[in-house]
Parts: sequence; C-alpha cells; structure tokens
Amino acid sequence: MDESEARKLIVEIGKLLYERSYVVSSDGNVSIRLSEDRVLATPTMMCKGRMCEDDLAVTDMDGKPVSDKLASSELAMHLLIYKMRPDIKAVCHAHPPHGTAFAVAGLAIDKPILSEVILTLGCVPLTGYGTPSTDELTDAMKPYVAHHNALLMANHGAVAYGEDLWQAFDRLETLEHTAKIAILAKALGGANDLPKGAVEKLIKIREKAGYLKENARCQACGYLHEANITCDLDVSYPGKATSNGQKISFTREELIELLSQAAKVG
Ligand SMILES: [Zn+2]
Repeated sequence: MDESEARKLIVEIGKLLYERSYVVSSDGNVSIRLSEDRVLATPTMMCKGRMCEDDLAVTDMDGKPVSDKLASSELAMHLLIYKMRPDIKAVCHAHPPHGTAFAVAGLAIDKPILSEVILTLGCVPLTGYGTPSTDELTDAMKPYVAHHNALLMANHGAVAYGEDLWQAFDRLETLEHTAKIAILAKALGGANDLPKGAVEKLIKIREKAGYLKENARCQACGYLHEANITCDLDVSYPGKATSNGQKISFTREELIELLSQAAKVG
C-alpha cells in the first residue's frame, strides 16, 4: 500500500476506534507495515479520534524513527507481531470495554458459543500481564502470536492483526462484540456452548473457505482442547511441545492421571 493511502486509512480507523469507544484519551495504537523495513504508526500521546495524516510516525523494523514524529511507546507489540507473522500487514491495539473486562477478570474469550466467531476469528487467548512498553509485555505475547489473530493482554486491553488494516479492525470489533454477547448471556443465566462436534465442522469450513489457515488450530487455549482436532504443524508453545520441538499428546485418561498425581504432590 502506498504511504499516503496508508496515512488516510489509519486516520479513518483512529476515528472509528474513538467513536466506538474502543479507546479514550490517548489510548491505543495502530500501524501498517509499509514495506519490509518500514512501519507507519500512530504517534505517542495523541487521541486516535483527532489525528491528522501528518501526525503519523514512520519507523524501521526496530522502532527507530525515520521521520520527525515519535511513534507510540507500545510500538514494540506491533513489531513483534510483524516479525513473527510475515502474513500480517496491520495491527490494531485498543482497550474496548467488554473485551478489556475479560482481560481484567483474567478470562480468555475461548468458549465455543458463536459459530461465526469460530469461522472468522478463532479463540482469543489471555496473555500474562506485562508492563506496557517493556519486554515483559512482548515476552508474554510471544507464545500466542503465531496461532492467533487477536489477543487479550491481562489487566490491559486487546490487540488484533490482519492482512490489511480493515481486517485487523474487524477482528478487534468481533472480539469486542463476542465479549459483549458473552457478558449479556451471563446476565441472562449463562451461555450455552455449541453442540458437540460443531467446532470440528466449523474448522473444516473455515479452512476450506480460507478464512483461517491450519496454523490457527494450534491454540494454546480454548475450545480446540475439547475438539477432536490435531494439527500436523511443527509448533512449540507452552503445553504443546517439549523444548526440542517434539510434540507430546496424552489421552484423556493419561491426562487425568497426571493431573491427579500433580495434585497429590502439591
Ligand atoms: Zn494499551
């Protein structure tokens, strides 16, 4: 995407984020990968609803400024995602209230309650708390970035990313909408999960249609643990692989036995 178009688009998305109350004050940040070594990002300490095209900052892939504007202090989160995911061209970070309520309550958005969310977003894990703008935050995100397109950050907010900025924004909006529905359903007595076997069918559909690829199956959390689906990719994240990259799988009985042994030791 050419830089002037990218500037216009970030300003447009910034207004939407503010109008929809996904950010207030100078919260949140948005970026677009312009080329292999250039990122266009929202500036530090500015309301996303009141930005101009000239306010945006350009940096290299290490966050070093290559324009006279200073990028958001949370840019490291964006750069981590670009480095780990060559398919990603845009990142959107905000504090949408319902999604952030999950993050504050220590909950992932990972219950299989809405069929279309499984098709388009997948489950959203909760990453551990890390001080914003430090390595703590990016270290906590690392295990999840490869297999998810949106994350909740404990006691902080949400980040979503995509092949373009509209896709990143749509994913953030789906995350927020799902969190809102889950909270409302709880107020009405609790959400029912999708029927047994439904998750497998939806995952087959989403891969055939190209909404999400096989790497989105390798989830460190959420409803895939219940579903009878495995992934052939060689991946490593906590709980899935050993340090030398070999996968370990347990039957339900073995897992129960291990957990009860661990409980006895504890
Ligand atoms: Zn933030």
